This record gives sequence, structure tokens and C-alpha cells, in this order.
Amino acid sequence: MSWHGLRVEQVEQQVNTTIGFGLTEKEAKKRLKQFGKNELSEEKKPSAFKQFIGQFQDFMVLVLLAATAISAVLGEYIDAIAIVAIVIINACLGFIQERRAEKSLEALKKLSAPESLVLRDGQWMKVPSADLVVGDIVKFASGDRIGADVRLIEAKGLYIEESSLTGESLPIEKQTAPLPQDVSLGDRTNMAFMGTLVTKGSGAGIVVATGMNTAMGQIAHLLQSAPTMMTPLQRKLEQLGKILIVIALALTALVVVLGVWQGHELYDMFLAGVSLAVAAIPEGLPAIVTVVLALGVQRMMKRNAIVRKLPAVETLGCASVICSDKTGTMTENQMTVTHVWVNNRLWTVSGTGYEPKGTFLLNGKQEKIDTSLQQLLLFGALCNHAELKKKGKTYMIDGDPTEGALVVAAAKAGWTKDKIANEFTIEHEFPFDSTRKMMTVIVKDRSNRRFIVTKGAPDMLLERCRFLYMNGQAKPLHDQERKTVQQTVNTLASQALRTIAIAYRPLSFAEAINDETKAESDLTFIGLQGMIDPPRKEVKQAIAECKKAGIKTVMITGDHILTAKAIAQQLHMLPPNGKVMDGKTLSQLTVDELEDVVEDVYVFARVSPEHKLKIVQALQKRGHIVAMTGDGVNDAPAIKTANIGIAMGITGTDVSKEAASLVLLDDNFATIKAAIEEGRNIYENIRKFIRYLLASNVGEILVMLFAMILALPLPLVPIQILWVNLVTDGLPAMALGLDPAEENVMKRPPRHPKEGVFARGLGWKIVSRGFLIGMVTLIAFLVVHTRHPENLTYAQTVAFATLVLAQLIHVFDCRSERSVFDRNPFENMYLVLAVLSSLLLLLVVIYYPPLQPIFHTVSLPVTDWLLIIGLSAIPTFLLAGSLFARRRS
Ligand code: ATP
Repeated sequence: MSWHGLRVEQVEQQVNTTIGFGLTEKEAKKRLKQFGKNELSEEKKPSAFKQFIGQFQDFMVLVLLAATAISAVLGEYIDAIAIVAIVIINACLGFIQERRAEKSLEALKKLSAPESLVLRDGQWMKVPSADLVVGDIVKFASGDRIGADVRLIEAKGLYIEESSLTGESLPIEKQTAPLPQDVSLGDRTNMAFMGTLVTKGSGAGIVVATGMNTAMGQIAHLLQSAPTMMTPLQRKLEQLGKILIVIALALTALVVVLGVWQGHELYDMFLAGVSLAVAAIPEGLPAIVTVVLALGVQRMMKRNAIVRKLPAVETLGCASVICSDKTGTMTENQMTVTHVWVNNRLWTVSGTGYEPKGTFLLNGKQEKIDTSLQQLLLFGALCNHAELKKKGKTYMIDGDPTEGALVVAAAKAGWTKDKIANEFTIEHEFPFDSTRKMMTVIVKDRSNRRFIVTKGAPDMLLERCRFLYMNGQAKPLHDQERKTVQQTVNTLASQALRTIAIAYRPLSFAEAINDETKAESDLTFIGLQGMIDPPRKEVKQAIAECKKAGIKTVMITGDHILTAKAIAQQLHMLPPNGKVMDGKTLSQLTVDELEDVVEDVYVFARVSPEHKLKIVQALQKRGHIVAMTGDGVNDAPAIKTANIGIAMGITGTDVSKEAASLVLLDDNFATIKAAIEEGRNIYENIRKFIRYLLASNVGEILVMLFAMILALPLPLVPIQILWVNLVTDGLPAMALGLDPAEENVMKRPPRHPKEGVFARGLGWKIVSRGFLIGMVTLIAFLVVHTRHPENLTYAQTVAFATLVLAQLIHVFDCRSERSVFDRNPFENMYLVLAVLSSLLLLLVVIYYPPLQPIFHTVSLPVTDWLLIIGLSAIPTFLLAGSLFARRRS
């Protein structure tokens, strides 16, 4: 259908909708059901069955199954069945873990799915873009990604970048008039296409195609699906895994060769060797890491941080600087005008929040509102998008809180929305942007008089003014008056007030204004409004905690330098020698020059989004790992360049969210701290189970190796080895991944990004504890075997129990970087339960007669448990105890 060739009313009719009302919710639901979701169909995922079968495709598992088949042929049915059963249970475990990881990653994707602003039943609301249907009326603004193919019905300075569709990288200016039928896709200027990006202005339109029927849908097969991202740690572990496989195979081969050389049956040794290889090769590590990462991501979600790129979880733990926006992130973004300066008089305004109730006072006394104050308040509300709404008893602002504060101040003087709309119409608008730091409208009153109203950052606006409104008329703005204005701004800003200046210029009836530079010149300065925006309560503490954790907090704001400084002081983030730098100074510095001074700067004020990139680069050159927040379109480069790009969930544009690796659902600085804390903890938890699993594997290999060297019988039979692996690899390792943070996790400096997995003594801990686990198991075996050489199964059962118990005790040691005594074992009830169930299973396979022939066990007398418990406690308590004692003394 050539929608671009039709007039708006024709489109409206064709898709059966109403422009001012939209579809009804019911109709939208019906259409969604009938025509399906507004999604590009994705490639099919492998089926659950395929994924399950995939679990058996590991080389060593195949060898084990082959070996088992041989033992079945040789008549060892029980062994064969038991081994197959264990392999199947193992596969189930792996399968469940994989599915779980996938599910939580999918849930993640859904959470960060794009939304669209749509008119339904006459109300504007946000819905997931996937729920858009043909006939929906949508609107969008700079920074939004278009949710479906749309025939435009409104375009205010609307520019859309369509490179993903047409390859044209320059944004296209859009309009609403019908076009000839035969224009090509790139020239359909009255259409907005799914997946393209609004770079400037705003617009609205009727959805005319969704899902695979959109222009993007037609080329969907050309789009590559996003590759699954591996975190640096996962990549490192994959490499490490390969090395460990070689080591494990070599040692296992050695065990087999030694065993055969010492006179063991080749067949026995082969099966034992393969079982040992299957047990000792940590092939499951990357999968568990993914699960733990995914679980961590879920925990972050509960704390309002959405991870968009998995590697960020790890990088978070390395963050050494957080660069954060001020407004809305460190402050409440709940603005109230408290001061107004006009006609050289400073008024104060009473009232709190958005309730339009309050009085205007001069020197503490209520005074009649004069015309100049009226004028200032009115202009503040005219050059404005925000709307004051009442829900129940509470007043809310729909729109930008800064503008909301101006609307409320005007309403306190009687300038309500209806009254203003009755008397004035907005002819044109030049929207606010954070580089110009101002916004302008062209207004016509009922007598067709036209004028320009501009509001913006006082210092920027003052440069565009030539006159000052004083005693009812415009007078030339001399240096003296400029100084007075600046001084007033400084006074207000040092009280942490955000200041907005307002100016105007009368226009002749026919004067055409095409661009903002022309509009924003030769203006007459009227006055200032100062508004409070209190710091968020939790931020001060979050900054203090970050400091303890070796993380510096830097404020980057578009606001006035004194306002920023005052808020920074309230938040205790500016040390006595800390510096404050403004955008002008920043512009003059190269990245290298900034690098020399950047360590001392804690506040960057009056910056433009371009500056953010420079700051990130300078900090990175100093070796910092930088987390950087942003919300606007222009913030995207800095967010992308930062090691951890953070976007705002509420106020952020789609572009900033797409560039970010982390999205704050509540726009709150404290959430960044929470995410870093989780990030650090996740990394530590991964180290914990790596330590646990590898130490267990070292123990398992060494007990077999030493037994062969000492020409002993096999201390463990294959099924026991497989069982140990299953029980240790399974629940306790997973429970370690869920371990709560050690209380010192935010009291130590950030991890160095180049730090290896085995850093900070982990390698030594794995080898030493693993060695001890192997040794105590061997000793247990030897003690019983020497006394009862005729009953090998007895000695094997004791060795088996000692190995399992030693590992289950050691798991508690793995919870701490320091020693087992430093943590309360009951803090992690998952782990306690996991260990108890593993213990119970151990008792079952030892004492339940039907299982005894399968697991080659015998019932043990109680006295043996003294030996088993005593020996298995050694690996954990011997070294931990001496360490603890040394620290105490
Ligand atoms: P950040 O969120 O980065 O901490 P900010 O929100 O204060 O900073 P900007 O939104 O870029 O930064 O605002 C910079 C300045 O522009 C403000 O100090 C204010 O004077 C002015 N300003 C803000 N919003 C508007 C607006 N809607 N219209 C006109 N001027 C505005």
C-alpha cells in the first residue's frame, strides 16, 4: 500500500481510526490478536530436545558411554546401568542450568524492550512497541526509535535518521503532505519507518504497518541476529578450560599407565580413568558462570538496575570512577520555584511540591503581584511543554520537572493552562537542547500580536539579550545591568537553586523566523526564576560508600557551576581540595591537558554532552574504569565509550538506552552503587565456585595418582568418582554462586581489570586445599586398608565418605577470601541445605542395602565416622586455623 500517496484523512479512514482519540483498548487488543505482534520474526531456537541431546556431545562423556557399553558387554550390568544413570542425571542438571540461564537472559531482553507512546481511548500511554497495531496513533520526539511504520500527521522540526533502512546517514527532514505514488523509500518524507531514529524535533503519526509488513520487515532476513556476548571472564575460562582438560587428561593417563604397570586390570583402569577424566574436567564451568551471571543479573534487576550487556556485570566490579548526571540522578528532579527576580526585585514564593497554592513575598511580606512579575510568570508558562495534572488529591507534572515548576509558579499567580490557551497560540517552537541550553516559542495573542519568548540558562541567554525589561519598558542592557543579573544568578545558584532566565522580543505581523539563531537574538531580558531540587536522600550515603570502596564520584551537569557546587557540598562529595570546572574551561583543554588535572576535579558544570566524551577519555587515559550516565541523544557517544555506559530508565531516550550496558529503572545514583556492589559480589561468587570445583578436582585426581604411585588398590571405584563429581558439581557449587556478599565487599579498592582469575592467592588455595583433600582421602583409605586388607570395599567406602565430606566442609571455606571463621555458615541457607542434602545422599548410598552393590559400599560402624570427620576437617581447618591465629596475635 502506498500510504505516502494518501492524504492524512484518507489514511485515517483506511485504517479505521480517529486521530484525536486513537483506537479503543478493546479494538487494539482485537487487532493484535488478529494480526499478531509487531515483531520481526526471529530465527528459530534449538528445541529443548536438541539442547538436551547436546549435553551428551562432550567427547569424554561419549568415551565414558562407550566404556560403559563395553562393561555391559562384559556382563557388568549394574555398573553400566549406574554409570548411564549418573551421566543422564548430569545431563539433566546441565540442561536445567542452560535453560535457566537462557530464560533469565530472555527476560532481560524483554525488560529492555522498546516502548512507544500511543493514544488509546483518548489517553496517551506507553506500551511495548511489540503491542502496536495498525491504526494506532503514536507520537515521538528526539532520541526515540520509531516503533512501526507510520504515516506522519504532525512534524515539528522533525528529522529522522534512516541509515539502517536506506543507508543514507544524514537525517531526513520530515513533513506531512502527500507525495507522488512512485517516490522511493528514502524520499517518503511523510513516513517514519520502524527502527529508524528521531534525531531532532517531534512528530506524530498513524501506524500503517507492523511486524514483518514494515519496510524493515521486508529486509529482516538481511539483518544479522545479535551474537551472544561472552564476558571477558567467560572467555578466559574457556581458554583455561582447554588447558585444564589437557592437564586432567594427562594426569588421568598417568593414573591409568601407572595402574596397569602396577598390575591392575587394563579394563578396570580404563573405566576408572575415563570416569576420573569426566569428573575432573571442569567442562561445566562456563555454563555455571553463565547461570551465576544470569542470577546476578536478576538480583540487580530487583535493585532497579537492568543489565543490557552481560560483560558489564564483570566490569562493574572494576569501576573506579562514576561520572553521574546531577538532575534527577543525584537530585529528586522535583522542582519548586522559590525565588523570582524581576524589575530588580527579588520575590520569594511560598508553597511546596506541585500544588498550585502559594503566595509571593517581598522581604518576607506578602505583596500584590505587579505586572512585571505577571509577565515573567506568564512567559515561563508559555514557553513550556509541561502540564499540571491532578490525580485524586495529588498534583503531578506531565513533562519536564523544570518546566513543571514554571507552570506551577504561574498557576500560583492565576495563569492556568486554560486561561493561557484561551489567550495565546503557539505558532512555532525551537525545542530545548542541552547544548544551546534554551528553548524558544513564537506566540500570537488574540489581537494577532506576535512575539518571541525564550527561556534558558541565564548565562547563555544573557549573551543573546540587548535590552532589559525595567519599569514596564525595555532599556538597553549595559555592563552594569549585566553584572547585576549575574550577581543575582550567583546568589541564587549558591543556594543550590537551579535558575532559568526568561526573555522576549516583539515580532512584526509578517516577520518570518526560520532558524533558532535568528529567533534567539536581540532579546529583552525580563527576569529569573530560581527553583530548588533537593538531593535524593540515599545519595549522600551511596557516595560515601563508593568512596570507601575506592570509587570516585564525579558530578557532570548542564547546570550552573555554583548550583552544582552547592549540591555537591550538600552531598559531601567535594573534598576540601576538590576542584570544580566549567564547560568553557573544558572546551579549551585537549584530552591530554585534561588528563593532567582530571584527578582533582569532582564537579563539571555547564557542560554540553560533547564534553562528556572528553572527560571519559581523559579518565580512561589515567587508567580509570569509568561508569558514565546519560539520557539524551548526544550522550550516546560518551555512554558507548565509557567502560560502563549507564542510561536512565525513566527520562532516558531510546538511543541512550541502546548505547548503554546498564539501565537504571529509577534514574537513581544509589542504584549505580547497588549495581557495583552486586557486580563485585558476582565476580567473587564466580571465584568462589571455581575455587571449590577445581580444589575438588585436584583432590580427586591426586588420591588416585598417589594410590597408583604407591602401588595400592584403587581407592575409589568409577561409580563413586562419578557420584562425587555429580554431588559436588551440582547443588553446593550452585549455592556458592548465590552467596550473599562478604561484608567487606565495598570496603576494598576496585579489582584491577587485568587481574587473572587466580589472583589474590586463589591458585595457591586451590592447589593446597586440593592436595590436602587428596591426602586425607588417601590416609583414610590406607588406615582401613592396612587393618582390613581382605575387605577392599570397606576401605573404599571410608575413602569415598572422607572425600565427599572433606569437599562439603571445604565448600564453607570457599565463601571467604579470608578464612572459614570469618563468616557465619548459616548466612547462606541455600548452601546449608545443599550440603545437608548431599550428606543425606551420601548416607543413603552407604547405608541403604539395595544401593550398596551399585555404589560398592558397606555400612560403616559409627566409630569410623570419627576418623572420617577428623580427617575431612583437616584441609579446611588446618590452614584456616593457622591463618586465623596469626591474624589474631
Ligand atoms: P544533568 O541532568 O546533566 O545534571 P541538567 O539537567 O541540569 O544536568 P540540562 O538539562 O542540560 O542539564 O540543563 C542545563 C541548563 O539549561 C539548566 O541549568 C537550565 O538553566 C536550562 N534548562 C533546563 N531545562 C530547560 C528547559 N526545559 N527550557 C529552558 N531551559 C532549560
